[in-house]
Amino acid sequence: MARIGFIGLGNMGAPMARNLMRAGHELRVFDVFLDRTGRLVAEGATAAETPAGVTEGAEAIVTMLPAGREVRAVYGGQGGLIETAAPGTLLIDCSTIDVATAREVAALAHEGGLAMIDAPVSGGVGGAEAATLTFMVGGPEAEVERARPILAAMGKAVIRAGEAGAGQAAKICNNMILGVSMIAVCEAFALAEKLGLDHQALFDIASKSSGQCWSLTSYCPVPGPVPASPANRDYAPGFTAQMMLKDLDLAQEAARSSGAETELGRHAAELYRRFVECNGSGTDFSGIIRMIRGRA
Ligand code: NAD
Repeated sequence: MARIGFIGLGNMGAPMARNLMRAGHELRVFDVFLDRTGRLVAEGATAAETPAGVTEGAEAIVTMLPAGREVRAVYGGQGGLIETAAPGTLLIDCSTIDVATAREVAALAHEGGLAMIDAPVSGGVGGAEAATLTFMVGGPEAEVERARPILAAMGKAVIRAGEAGAGQAAKICNNMILGVSMIAVCEAFALAEKLGLDHQALFDIASKSSGQCWSLTSYCPVPGPVPASPANRDYAPGFTAQMMLKDLDLAQEAARSSGAETELGRHAAELYRRFVECNGSGTDFSGIIRMIRGRA
């Protein structure tokens, strides 16, 4: 079993780190919030006082940070992982960030004699807890294979998408589908309510018909049909609307720079921006149904 460093113990990172410990790995962890580190230490991890502290004796380091800015801060510059990790260390960034930053940081890591892959995830907090995440991976084949057993302890699928940044490209395309489909499912429930159609009846029918999708069957935006969905706990996240907006903006930025036309993706970003600006930011992204109902 490996000694692994882990940075970023939030909604996703904490359960992912826990699963690595369950698989028998020895973990050294860091988060800017001490209580988050403390919780993992109570379960058997060792605390580091700085990001560089997790590199001590580590064969691999996993990061699960909010966005590109934090990834640059943790990996780059003085005292960053690229400067402090021992040659040959495998760096695995599971955060969802822009493709350009992912490529830039991976290039710096490789120049510094380290291995590095981008490995963003799909599956949400439920998938992180149950170790059933899907990892979309970008990087050299040999490095992806090196990471595979580590990722397998946290997920059910590890799929190589291509070279550095390809995992992030796959992730933003996937999440553009998710943002658009969540809005579609919310609009369908809002319409059903107006038509006097019962939530459960719509769920039972659409989940066995052509409207079936993850936003409906795993993350239903109304309470009842899927007991584990955030709708059953007043839309506590989960995956915040702020994070969804971040991913939709990343998709729009990528569409602009590559010349792709993504009209529904653009509209979904506008709706999530409005929701975030109207106090929705820390709410689960499925909570946008409240705004959709309110606009009627
Ligand atoms: P989060 O905000 O709950 O966790 C991020 C953690 O990083 C926090 O604990 C924060 O304190 C820590 N952090 C921030 N800056 C840091 C720094 N400089 N050094 C060390 N720690 C730092 O976010 P999350 O929901 O766990 O999401 C993490 C990433 O995973 C994001 O990129 C998100 O887009 C992606 N993601 C989230 C979900 C989800 O359902 N929450 C699903 C798929 C992907």
